[in-house]
Amino acid sequence: MSWAEWFAAQRSAREAAGLHRTLRPRAADDDLIDLANNDYLGLSGHPAVRRAAAEAALVWGAGAGASRLVTGTTTLHAELERELAGFTGREAALVFSTGYHANLSAVTALADRDTLIVSDAHVHASLIDAARLSRAAVRVVPHNDVTAVRDALAAAGGRRALVLTESIFSVLGDAAPLAELAETCADHGALLVVDEAHGLGVAGDGGRGLLHGLGLNDHPHVVMTATLSKSLGAMGGAVLGSAALTDHLVNRARPFIFDTGLAPAPTAGALAALRILRGQPGLPSRIHERGAELADRLHVPRSAGAVLSVPMPSPQVALAAQAGALAAGVRVGCFRPPSVPDGVSRLRITTHAGLDEESWERAIGVVARVAEEHRQ
Ligand code: PMP
Repeated sequence: MSWAEWFAAQRSAREAAGLHRTLRPRAADDDLIDLANNDYLGLSGHPAVRRAAAEAALVWGAGAGASRLVTGTTTLHAELERELAGFTGREAALVFSTGYHANLSAVTALADRDTLIVSDAHVHASLIDAARLSRAAVRVVPHNDVTAVRDALAAAGGRRALVLTESIFSVLGDAAPLAELAETCADHGALLVVDEAHGLGVAGDGGRGLLHGLGLNDHPHVVMTATLSKSLGAMGGAVLGSAALTDHLVNRARPFIFDTGLAPAPTAGALAALRILRGQPGLPSRIHERGAELADRLHVPRSAGAVLSVPMPSPQVALAAQAGALAAGVRVGCFRPPSVPDGVSRLRITTHAGLDEESWERAIGVVARVAEEHRQ
């Protein structure tokens, strides 16, 4: 079979299963209401954030120019790291070019062939890939099952161990039992790596994250990772914990060492967004009020964060529901295998604190109607 035939066969198989994907470029001036993106606080388009990003590009240039250890660390990076650590109540933070890289870095620098990784079945692809890349032995445990984590750690046989989870899960929108997991890790000398991609800016006091909300921010057995691309509206990732941890990552994390530093514009944009969030601690509460209202309208469980998930009978029906919402002016997410941990296709709808009241009301009316027409 030629490569051309192979590509065609692969595509046909995906199309037959309703799993083929194509890119749909978004115009800057389209007037759709977007309940698919992760800009939960609307900070990406905030005038102060836009201005900070634009000014940083003018002052520093479009790129960081080199990896962080060469010349890619600017004073902007240092400021962002200091303020991220202060905001989340951790001793230190290290910034990466994406959240994906933050997860790859944290896990590969902490685990090796002699480590056991215990991973929740629903963690993000970046943590799954990180575990594979680390060459550690991996045990996948059922979603949010603390007993299974405890049993796996008890069987670690003296190996160093990491437990991987998310604070608020990216597809289901539920929260992990972080207090119990942290206690279990402490009991077994393991480290809990918590991806707060959907918790930062959303959960905890003023959006400081779920770990902070639970008083686990300075827990010695907890490492936090985050992205700057969701509630902070920019791009980039971070690992937060002790200064000893970030020092170790600077020296040992290959996705950090061999990657060009985060560009100045998103670095400054994320910093400006963080300052807005710190100055307006009431901002995230809007997400929860609106999320509760939408969950009740959709008859789905309320989210611990901004993510609501509506199961659909098949990938094809999920696509049809998404198209129905689009035709009525609302963009919603459509998640199908392999992007769903349990194989169930679903609409993924995010709540937004930044939308004006009229747009929000119109959007939830459309979403409720479309979900009702297509659901199981
Ligand atoms: N972790 C989770 C839970 C995510 O949802 C995402 C984004 N899809 C990432 C990590 C990766 O973050 P980034 O987009 O900044 O690479």
